[in-house]
Amino acid sequence: MTVLVTGASRGIGAGLAEAYRNRGENVIAAARSGGDARLDVADPASIKALAGRLSGTAIDLLICNAGIFPDKGQRLEDGFAAELWDEVFRVNVRGVFLTVQALLPHLERAHAPKIALLSSRLGSNMHAGGGNYIYRASKAAVTNLGRNLATDLAPKGIAVGIYHPGWVRTDMGGTGADISLEESVSGLVARFDALSVETTGEFRTWDGRTLEF
Ligand code: NDP
Repeated sequence: MTVLVTGASRGIGAGLAEAYRNRGENVIAAARSGGDARLDVADPASIKALAGRLSGTAIDLLICNAGIFPDKGQRLEDGFAAELWDEVFRVNVRGVFLTVQALLPHLERAHAPKIALLSSRLGSNMHAGGGNYIYRASKAAVTNLGRNLATDLAPKGIAVGIYHPGWVRTDMGGTGADISLEESVSGLVARFDALSVETTGEFRTWDGRTLEF
């Protein structure tokens, strides 16, 4: 099985790439620097170039993991600058869509292809705790992308799942987060294994609980 992970330089992406590699899968760790393949999801030309370099390669599992959270803790009164909205949506939303679009031919070459999107509970409309407006809106958009891609890709036999990795001790999650990288990664791998066209469009936590959109 060939697995392509975006944002594989550190954190959850690096953990997922290592877990699949340890399992003997063929892993393409895509990252802005280092990794097996260069990919900046904010740059459409970089996405196209990667798709071109992988032309003819079947991808069984595409994991859209790259993401940023630069508005963490900002104040409603004076935070959330216009440029930050553009930056976050370029990476977290447009980056996901363009990556999936460019790699569709590669997924179509696989026997039972799957796409896993790393979204967040913070983007669920049922968990509106306030604050973090840009990140929350971007993850709500990722979940929406996943739901609509699931509809469009089901006839092609491509399953799409949307996942909350837990609050994980990474650079993004911070040292006070709930769970270790290993716990999150092993849970996510189990979720991705279980994903199929029968369950396409699911929005689940790393440990298998269904999340409200
Ligand atoms: P980290 O901040 O630890 O790592 C983010 C990764 O994304 C890095 O590899 C980074 O690469 C990469 N990345 C950022 N921008 C780009 C870009 N333009 N192109 C390519 N890669 C890029 O985050 P986590 O590992 O914690 O999070 C991974 C995913 O899980 C994200 O989508 C996040 O939103 C989501 N998530 C995380 C939670 C947590 O508690 N940690 C909770 C809920 C969701 P580089 O090294 O080049 O900067």
